[in-house]
Amino acid sequence: MAYDHDAEDILKPLVFRLHQSVPEAVREVLLERGWSEFDEQEQDEADWNLYWQNSPFRMTDHRSIKPWQRLNHYPETVRITRKDYLARHLKRMKGIYGPSLYEFSPVAFIMPNDYVRFIAEYTKERQSQGKKPSYWICKPVDLSRGRGILIFQDIKDFVYDCMVIVQKYISNPLLISGYKWDLRLYVCVTSFCPLTIYTYEEGLVRFATEKFDLGSLDNVYAHLTNTSINKFGASYKKNKEGIGRGCKWTFSKFRSYLRSHEVDDLLLWRRINNIVMLTLLAITPSVPLTSNCFELFGFDILIDDTFKPWLLEVNYSPALCLDCSIDTTVKKRLLHDIIELLNYKQTDTLRENNGPGTKVSYAGRTHIPLTTQGENATDDAPNFLASRQESECTATSAVQSLLEVAGGSFKKEAIVMGKMARTHPRKTLTSQLRERMNRPKTSSQSKVTSKSKQLPGARHPAHASVQVTHWLPTTDLCNYKLTITPYFLSTKDKRPFPRVGDFVLIFPFNDAALEASRNGIDVKSIVHEIHKLMNKQLPPGQQKVKKRKDYLTFR
Ligand code: ADP
Repeated sequence: MAYDHDAEDILKPLVFRLHQSVPEAVREVLLERGWSEFDEQEQDEADWNLYWQNSPFRMTDHRSIKPWQRLNHYPETVRITRKDYLARHLKRMKGIYGPSLYEFSPVAFIMPNDYVRFIAEYTKERQSQGKKPSYWICKPVDLSRGRGILIFQDIKDFVYDCMVIVQKYISNPLLISGYKWDLRLYVCVTSFCPLTIYTYEEGLVRFATEKFDLGSLDNVYAHLTNTSINKFGASYKKNKEGIGRGCKWTFSKFRSYLRSHEVDDLLLWRRINNIVMLTLLAITPSVPLTSNCFELFGFDILIDDTFKPWLLEVNYSPALCLDCSIDTTVKKRLLHDIIELLNYKQTDTLRENNGPGTKVSYAGRTHIPLTTQGENATDDAPNFLASRQESECTATSAVQSLLEVAGGSFKKEAIVMGKMARTHPRKTLTSQLRERMNRPKTSSQSKVTSKSKQLPGARHPAHASVQVTHWLPTTDLCNYKLTITPYFLSTKDKRPFPRVGDFVLIFPFNDAALEASRNGIDVKSIVHEIHKLMNKQLPPGQQKVKKRKDYLTFR
């Protein structure tokens, strides 16, 4: 953003508004960045830039959104954050696009509706000879933090008194020094149309605090990885061999650990990103078209001992409380990066419709009819970014000209840009404010190296000084132009930023994916692109030359 002295003189702070249930870390970070807190008594109703709450906003809040404002939720995202809804959506997608793509979520039954189907499956398993009966995990559909969970193998131990899902229990988790763990991955969707997904390269590995043992299914400290449970475990504060104290690692430490054991962490990361995209696609068409929102999801991923990642659940308003120093490192930086992602401009500090450039920048973004994207695909439905005709014209021509140039040169440009983004971080308004106030950026990513630990099957001891901080280079960029700039696009080239802090753009990953998500969403084409991407990601010997039937049965 160009920055001149006159503007500096009139610069007002950005203003945040928090619901009382929002963790203190959010306030701390915003204050660190020079923001001020909204004062209901003193300020006008619309005199704020960011409204953050842990529950969904009312539709009227979405309808009355102003150009300078952002809300931290999209409507309807609960469709993947409630366990039964998620199970239903993924089952539907599996039915349409085939089990090979949608095999990342453990088989689930929603009780009481699926009781008969569950009994049939359970009985079938028991009767099939030579097959070890599965373990099952029963979870209340709308509880979190490990509350009300029961693990069982024998149906006589299965009791429930509320709506639950019964999921196949992953009984072969990849253990580290005998402990179970899972990954808390942060995902930020800055737009559902065009679909724009970022995953966060830093995150939390959450350990159980007692050794995994299928002989003690009722030991929550051995089977559940929730911090809310394990922090009360007898071993929480003890120095556990190979794990350390507490129950968390950063992704940085985890990556170092994997690399020191010669595990292909990049392939694992790509597989996890595919899960994220395929999961979000399940609800993208049904998210009402709204502007100026974003959604931070917490994806819980379990890796089994064949290195297969499984999606356990998707969390709405993932916990941002700071329980330990690792939380502080990861979550405060995450919050800083979210604010950077929101890409506030100088005009946003004015919080007026008549600020410089607002007529152009914001036209068409304030009064958004709350239609779904499917509805928006009709000809006379309004586009939230600009008039449909306008945006289509410019976007199509830009994409065409892009497609005319050699794909390689475009990719090269994307990679160079990505690198530049890392060495010269963008000067957003908030980063300038921070600089001007002489406030330090968050502490740099921790670069903890792995101590000597053995992953099952690892052949070599850990190298002492592995220093790795990123999963992968930035993705291919999409190259399209819109006359009206949504907040998540760069002012310079109207593309989503390939990387913002530790957020990496994972969707759109190519032009076809972009095209299929820009005006309404063409899920079938996107799934097809993801399938091609997944095939390319396989080691050469394993790539499928012929297309497999189950990928292609798009119904
Ligand atoms: P909650 O919302 O209560 O945290 P989760 O679905 O995240 O519910 O489950 C809590 C914990 O239980 C997870 O972090 C994980 O350790 C364990 N868990 C959940 N589902 C499974 C499963 N299908 N297989 C193995 N472990 C699971």
